[in-house]
Amino acid sequence: MSDTDATATQTPPNVAAHLPATIFEELDIARDPNNLFHQTIEQVLIAAELVGLAHHQQIILAQPKNEIMVHFPVLMDDGHHDLFKGYRVQHNNVLGPYKGGIRYHPQVSLDHIKALAVLMTMKCSLVRIPFGGAKGGVKCNPRELSADELMRVTRRFCSAISNQIGPDYDVPAPDVGTNAQIMAWFADTYSQIMPEHIRSDSLRVVTGKPVEMGGSLGRDKATGQGLVYVLQEMLGELDIDIRAMKFSLIGFGNVGSWTARLLGELGATLTAVLDHTGAIHNEKGIDPQTLTDHVAQTGGVVKFAHAKALNEDDFYSISVDVFIPAALEQMITSDKAKLIEAKVVAEGANAPTTPEGDAVLRERGIEVLPAILCNAGGVTVSYFEWVQNKSSVYWPADDVDRRLNQHMVLAARRVKLARIKHECDMRTASYCAALDQIGKVYDLCGVFP
Ligand code: NAD
Repeated sequence: MSDTDATATQTPPNVAAHLPATIFEELDIARDPNNLFHQTIEQVLIAAELVGLAHHQQIILAQPKNEIMVHFPVLMDDGHHDLFKGYRVQHNNVLGPYKGGIRYHPQVSLDHIKALAVLMTMKCSLVRIPFGGAKGGVKCNPRELSADELMRVTRRFCSAISNQIGPDYDVPAPDVGTNAQIMAWFADTYSQIMPEHIRSDSLRVVTGKPVEMGGSLGRDKATGQGLVYVLQEMLGELDIDIRAMKFSLIGFGNVGSWTARLLGELGATLTAVLDHTGAIHNEKGIDPQTLTDHVAQTGGVVKFAHAKALNEDDFYSISVDVFIPAALEQMITSDKAKLIEAKVVAEGANAPTTPEGDAVLRERGIEVLPAILCNAGGVTVSYFEWVQNKSSVYWPADDVDRRLNQHMVLAARRVKLARIKHECDMRTASYCAALDQIGKVYDLCGVFP
């Protein structure tokens, strides 16, 4: 059987499917199939069973180590105070300091952040960087806040969780709704709180900083670049020539726009994009750089002069070689999955596919390249930033790219090997490859005392 045959047709063995339920019962979790955290844990536990992870290790991974929830007041521009809710979830740190982005979004919730923290643990392990998994967020709509309000929200949130993070303990980064400027405010606030003599080293508390403040070259494009490296490693086997392929995107923010520009440089053609403002299509091709400029000026893809508007369902039905979700979680439901006309779905976003959507894609023979592999480039270059900050030696951009390529290609190969070894789909295989490493470390450490 070829590699390709082994993927899209196979589901995780049924023998494993009942096992997560036992752990859910043991931990007294009332399983809700629509809860992203429960879905994520279930998928991880199925893989854990396949790799033979010890029962106590499965129990450890089924819950985060720490769930921090804070409320903090912020002075708004009109003089009144609003109370904001923030989260930091630290899932696991057996491989190294907790690591994960901070999201500003109105739908941020504890269980959502818990799911994303689990994915960070898996992602860091899969690409073999010495970090654990965490995630944070503030429930707010950054599009409705002024720059001054965003700065005050960031500074108050940083101070509210400052005792629970640290450069060698828990290192946040940007995610949806946050960027390098927000990381600069965050790092500055944290370092102001620290004693003078460790102030400059304290900037290491976040990655994704502007280059002028210790950020790494290549961090802004890193997630898109990592996805492109994964596609280069994987698409040949799937009979897709990257230089001649057509692709569509959900989301044209950091991940989406960089992926589009980098694939465009390789000769691939972007034909359709959906974002929070609407969808656009041009079968002859949408120039990624011109669209990036348009989005920077107008805030979204609609009204782009060189493409037609189309409705959401029509967007999903556009025929492409590779369909790339790079926006929010859970957008590819079973209904949307039935519409997708692509050979491959490459998950740029975290958890963009529901379990039902996943099943439909599998039945339809559409290969899914999972998020913990495809979007691990961001955290990998965050790790490079952290190493450069620690050593005060800064790497040229091509060094960053070369090292990133190594991590991504090796991770992709690990997933391919795990898929063959465990006869499962790519998502399960990516968790198997991640858990393999975590299990070995737990075996070596044991459980204290
Ligand atoms: P971003 O805030 O820069 O962009 C988000 C994009 O999603 C925007 O284009 C927005 O229009 C779009 N969007 C929002 N709501 C939408 C909706 N309802 N329908 C369609 N599009 C919608 O965020 P980002 O940093 O590009 O992150 C995108 C995804 O990638 C997230 O899942 C994030 O967790 C993941 N990710 C990001 C990084 C990173 O380095 N930035 C790293 C790993 C994973």
